[in-house]
Amino acid sequence: MDSLTRPSCLVRSSLHRSLFFSYKMTSLREVRASVSVQEPEALRASALDLLVTRRQQQPSAAIITTTVDSTPPGRVTDDPSLKSTWAHRAWVACGCASVLATLAKSGIAAHGDATWVECLLAGGLGYLAADLGSGVYHWAIDNYGDAGTPFFGPQIEAFQGHHRWPWTITRREFANNLQALARATAFLLLPVDLLPGEPGLHAFAGTFLGCLMFSQQFHAWSHGTKSRLPPAVVALQDAGLLVPRAMHMAHHRPPYNNNYCIVSGVWNRLLDEAKVFQALEMLVFFRFGVRPRCWSEPTLEWTEEVDDRLPS
Ligand SMILES: [Zn+2]
Ligand SMILES: [Zn+2]
Repeated sequence: MDSLTRPSCLVRSSLHRSLFFSYKMTSLREVRASVSVQEPEALRASALDLLVTRRQQQPSAAIITTTVDSTPPGRVTDDPSLKSTWAHRAWVACGCASVLATLAKSGIAAHGDATWVECLLAGGLGYLAADLGSGVYHWAIDNYGDAGTPFFGPQIEAFQGHHRWPWTITRREFANNLQALARATAFLLLPVDLLPGEPGLHAFAGTFLGCLMFSQQFHAWSHGTKSRLPPAVVALQDAGLLVPRAMHMAHHRPPYNNNYCIVSGVWNRLLDEAKVFQALEMLVFFRFGVRPRCWSEPTLEWTEEVDDRLPS
């Protein structure tokens, strides 16, 4: 008899790292596998290994169909992956302390009105450069590499997951959201803080890295609902000093290749109209033969899943 159904097996590696794997042999000798994972890579690999093993045990199976379903963070009440840990808070504290130390060093080194003007100009340049830097970094990790990329892998996976489940950023706690960039900020500012006080340099470095560190918070606010955001944040978004909500929403719509900057978004129009990122993509392709992800038809990774818990 061809048609038989096998019992499902449940593999649980930790509280929120569970894998449900089931299969059945249909009358068409087709193995159907359904995999639901919350920590996709390792467990998905385990599930597919299991499937291959079964296939070897059932050589008559002619067709294998797999459906891989990643359950997004945030669907589970009190999802721990969105919570801040004490380590996250400590890194954000280190990042903030290093930014404040750098700005303080700039202030202490400043003397006279002329130097204060230099500090303010350098700080303004740092703010503008941070928006540009956030765009270049966001473009790079949206389009190149994957979870296995050395050093940047977790950020790449997080940003690509963000395109599929953008609403989760509004449920992610503050320190959880900022900790990766805070860690980088603390390490990058350490050598700058060891340099002798230079008002312009320290004002630029402190503002540049401070804005980059908080870019994930500005990004989270751009996904917020106007009525739920603090009025001051809405006012800054409407003034174009923080990335506006409508501008960033355009990034989450096809063709998914524009509006990458997430500090103030001031560079977005210029970069998109001048097709700067398209030019960089051509450069990378002809130099290294690597195609950016945005050249392909949008896949599941890019397509936003509707959160059925949100009010319409
Ligand atoms: Zn993106
Ligand atoms: Zn976003």
